[in-house]
Amino acid sequence: MPVGGLVPRAVENAADVVVRNAKIHTGDARRPQAGALAIRDGLITAVGDDADVAPLIGPATTVVDALGRRVVPGLNDSHLHVIRGGLNYVLELRWDGVTSLREGLAMLREQAARTPKGQWVRVVGGWSAEQFAERRLPTPAELNEAAPDTPVFVLHLYQSAVLNRAALQAVGYTRDTPDPKGGQIVRGRGGEPNGMLLAAPSALILYSTLAKAPTLAPEERKSSTRHFLRELNRFGLTSAIDAAGGFQNFPENYATVTELAREGLLSLRIAYHLFPQTPGQELDDLTRWIESVRPGDGDEWLRLNGAGENLTWAAADFENFAEPRPELGGYEGEFEKAVRMLTEHGWGFRLHATYDETIRRDLAVFEKLAAEGLFPAGNRWLFDHAETVSRDSLDRIAALGGALSVQNRLSFQGEVFTRRYGVGAAAEAPPIRAMLDRGLTVAAGTDATRVSSYNPWVALHWLVSGRTVGGPAIRPPQNRVDRATALAMYTTAGAVLTGEQDVKGVLRTGCYGDLAVLSDDFFTVPEHEIPHIESLLTVVGGRIVHAAAEYEGLDEELPAVSPAWSPVARFGGYRSHRSGGTGARQAELLGEVVAESELHRRWRVGRGLATEPSQPFDPCFLL
Ligand SMILES: [Zn+2]
Repeated sequence: MPVGGLVPRAVENAADVVVRNAKIHTGDARRPQAGALAIRDGLITAVGDDADVAPLIGPATTVVDALGRRVVPGLNDSHLHVIRGGLNYVLELRWDGVTSLREGLAMLREQAARTPKGQWVRVVGGWSAEQFAERRLPTPAELNEAAPDTPVFVLHLYQSAVLNRAALQAVGYTRDTPDPKGGQIVRGRGGEPNGMLLAAPSALILYSTLAKAPTLAPEERKSSTRHFLRELNRFGLTSAIDAAGGFQNFPENYATVTELAREGLLSLRIAYHLFPQTPGQELDDLTRWIESVRPGDGDEWLRLNGAGENLTWAAADFENFAEPRPELGGYEGEFEKAVRMLTEHGWGFRLHATYDETIRRDLAVFEKLAAEGLFPAGNRWLFDHAETVSRDSLDRIAALGGALSVQNRLSFQGEVFTRRYGVGAAAEAPPIRAMLDRGLTVAAGTDATRVSSYNPWVALHWLVSGRTVGGPAIRPPQNRVDRATALAMYTTAGAVLTGEQDVKGVLRTGCYGDLAVLSDDFFTVPEHEIPHIESLLTVVGGRIVHAAAEYEGLDEELPAVSPAWSPVARFGGYRSHRSGGTGARQAELLGEVVAESELHRRWRVGRGLATEPSQPFDPCFLL
């Protein structure tokens, strides 16, 4: 209705979405800060102040008042097992962000009671014992007590899994089951499995046991994936580079994201990699793929980016820091053939490598091929992880035009890494500043979902503070990065790895309309609050894919979580400890804090650090 001369009128080039009254960090050196921007047909059409975008507001434009909040380019996790994570998301109980084992076990007990016969309760990574007030794992007895009849599988990092009695029965492990290669089934006095599985050092025992659990039907996988992508949008993620992974077969396990892409239902842009699954058959797999698909195939929502993070199984080092570094056998023969085949066909790749010992051997192969003129120029090949890479290796990577992607695996394993390799080595794990000083592209990510949580703010906190989720600072100031650099590692650097640096990772006219309106200003919030940042409004290609607080209801609709007994339907994903939200949630959080204080008090009393008060509570307070 026209009021006071303000007549809504058809505007030429009217924006679909305008964000105004914002503190925009554009990531664009030519205009680092702005107050408003406009998006049309998925692309940014204006960046400036409120007056600049006002003429682009038409009757159909969605105008978002950021209320002075910080807006950043959409985040890009450069190493996320997002495809596999999506296929299983609604089946998993997440302990990500849970601060006590007591709370974790209470969630598990409640979920077991909601879980129908034949299904499991599974906690598959995203947490570490160090994040709990109790600083320990659950015991098999505690799992039996919480879930007497429902199989429970709890994965802790790449190190171990705890199973209850019902899960041992479901997988059929008995006194006669031999230990698999590189793994250990821990046994009690009578030789019966006691519920603990150890990676010694191979995590294959953990994953192959988990693979015996029920999976979702194809239609449910689509819904599960959509919910996982929206959970990632909740933290401001708009892109990810999938690192493929074990038990992720091409093309079968890529069908879900492919269908969602075809239907326009992806809410996260995914660049994916192909990873040969079967030892001994890697070259056959790579040959088949090279003949049938090409890197770059797809579009800005779903695109093939190359091979990896494994090329041949024998070259993979295990990142189980609770165990000694594995000694790899002679793998160079097959590995060289694989890399040669890829480079000859113009394929880029990413390569999982944890230790410098592995990286040096890989580099020797690359240098040999480079001497033949085979190695690709530019940044379309990279090492993943590289926790103990040496400066000499970094120089060799730079000389070959490679890049790196680092993840906050030591947010979760920093303590165990330090115990094994010492404070000095941990301070350099990985040597992020040495990488950046050489001008290398260094993209950040999480390696979620099986060790690290997918929450990017936990990773950004690790980058700037050097701290683990348990609290200690492992990396000293000289190996930390400032907040703007950390954010660039989470935005522009990932775009370089997929060749999208001209359209992704910065908020500039002509680039993708991918952004997040943050709950707190990443640049000014106290450092310890960084892990608690969430996005209040996430936009991907001009679509609002997440909206909370004042913006609730502005986002695209999403069908309810299915099946209805899913842990996600009850608990959601990452356990938020943000203030705000509903009154019920506030009361719940308060109850948790009180219970944790009491737990901590008892712990102190038990160690003689405090005495039992004669009267624990003021009677007036007690009721
Ligand atoms: Zn890896």
